[in-house]
Amino acid sequence: GTTPETEQKTCAPLVVLAGPTAVGKGTVSAYIRDHYPEVWLSVSATTRSPRPGEVDGKHYHFITDERFEAMVSAGEFLEHAVVHGRASYGTPREPVLRAAAEGKLPLLEIDLQGARQVREQMPEAYFVFLAPPSWDELVRRLVGRGTETEAERTVRLDTARRELAARSEFDTTIINDDVQRAAEELVQLMQQHICVP
Ligand code: 5GP
Repeated sequence: GTTPETEQKTCAPLVVLAGPTAVGKGTVSAYIRDHYPEVWLSVSATTRSPRPGEVDGKHYHFITDERFEAMVSAGEFLEHAVVHGRASYGTPREPVLRAAAEGKLPLLEIDLQGARQVREQMPEAYFVFLAPPSWDELVRRLVGRGTETEAERTVRLDTARRELAARSEFDTTIINDDVQRAAEELVQLMQQHICVP
């Protein structure tokens, strides 16, 4: 062949950020959205209602159950899952593939079920696990949020314990000790591992 064998490292089309519940994935990805215009953050579709301040098309595409099912049937999602047994979430496939083809730095912030689906379809993607500084800190964040009842909290802690064990399935781990620092580390990893086509 004529292709020189220089620098033929494996490179990823995109980075997936996942981690246990309440670890701060949403905060880190929001920080990146607001401070790193070079990162292309995937906008998920969801069937849940917008929270105050959330903008359709920016934070999520807020869609109906019917529309979500239609998109699932049409194969329009790269991955999709029901999260916390409450609502459906999915990553529209086409915008992600287009961003990758355009040489952007695509980032997917999704739950662990979704990350596993992406790995099956795209094993060459780079998978980052966001971990809490400690188990106690994760519990503090979960309790501190104060949005759950005692029973919901117990379920979430149980889920979080199982989710922490998924760390070994990932290419690397970032400790979320500080949002700005974790975001910087993530962007650095993206620049190292994503290939420009
Ligand atoms: P929230 O409703 O608080 O914005 O998000 C709840 C959970 O849904 C978070 O753990 C977030 O990572 C996850 N999530 C958001 N978008 C997607 C998606 O497109 N796919 C999957 N599998 N999970 C998502």
